[in-house]
Amino acid sequence: MIDCAQLRQSVWQANRSLPESGLVKWAQGNASGRDPETNLVAIKPSGVQLDRLQVEQIVIVDLDGNIVDGDMKPSIDTASHLHVYRHRDDVNGIVHTHSPHATSFAVRGEPIGVYTTTAAALFGGEIPISGFATIGEEAIGREIVAKIGESSAILMRNHGVFTIGATPNEALKYAIYVEEEAEIIDLALQKGPLKELDSELVAEARRMYLHDYGQ
Ligand SMILES: [Zn+2]
Repeated sequence: MIDCAQLRQSVWQANRSLPESGLVKWAQGNASGRDPETNLVAIKPSGVQLDRLQVEQIVIVDLDGNIVDGDMKPSIDTASHLHVYRHRDDVNGIVHTHSPHATSFAVRGEPIGVYTTTAAALFGGEIPISGFATIGEEAIGREIVAKIGESSAILMRNHGVFTIGATPNEALKYAIYVEEEAEIIDLALQKGPLKELDSELVAEARRMYLHDYGQ
């Protein structure tokens, strides 16, 4: 048996952080992670209340969706997460939420434009909107791969948010910032019309973030 303890722990942590960060309610949403060495994926079990999720309930699957370890049925979105992992070697963490401000853009079928230097730095451009995709098979994953481009987040049409990262924790960070950005825009729109940041400022903030920010 391959030791999945670390992978399971990091994915459990990301899932538990979803309700703690106010991004999901009850059993909504999910987080997964891939071990790049073994290509095994850890993901939330289906229909389990996230604030009660136990680390041993995290399900380990291979890239074809076969359960490698775990007693529970994996998330309904598992096939879509696996589709993304199979097509993006750079992605080792995926987070999905229905966070309300960002999802309000998804139900309107609108991308989230760039209005703050934070969004410019983190996303480097607008957060794209997908086409319609049904839940349960790979359709959501295909939309993510086809439409996310250089972004680390995508709005799933009439559904919610998917974010990708090098780790589950990085994908969680993007999910938190997508919701914050959407909330800021919603608040600012109540005060009147808005103008997006111009593309030079966006590119400059992005450059700084990629080259100078952090430890
Ligand atoms: Zn969902």
